[in-house]
Amino acid sequence: MGMAIVLITHDLGVIAEMCDDVVVMYAGRIAESGPVDALFSHPSHPYTRGLLNSIPRLSTARKSRLNVIEGMVPSLADLPSGCRFQNRCPYRIDTCLRQPPLEEVTPGHHVACHRWRELPPLPIPS
Ligand code: SF4
Repeated sequence: MGMAIVLITHDLGVIAEMCDDVVVMYAGRIAESGPVDALFSHPSHPYTRGLLNSIPRLSTARKSRLNVIEGMVPSLADLPSGCRFQNRCPYRIDTCLRQPPLEEVTPGHHVACHRWRELPPLPIPS
């Protein structure tokens, strides 16, 4: 019908099921964007990876703790200069005090992280 729907959610399952394209926002800025398949198979921003890593799996042992992203979202009244994810990011370096540009990972898939090329592969969820 020539229409589009914008879903705003933290539920990555809904995104995987319903969407063609996804934009991951953090503290008002784009962290990563692209086709759902590309972004879910090669998440390139530490925040995206943290979100995916926090999804409970059926294979998770009972009574084990869920993975979380440590720390808190910064106050929008007191945002850090540079990357806004820096106070929660395990890969932070001094360069992160400058805002990372959106860079192309693959055609249509973009990420704003100074270190996206260096991140270790994520474990394959079972
Ligand atoms: S730019 Fe730096 S602080 Fe921000 S997500 Fe990338 S590594 Fe982490």
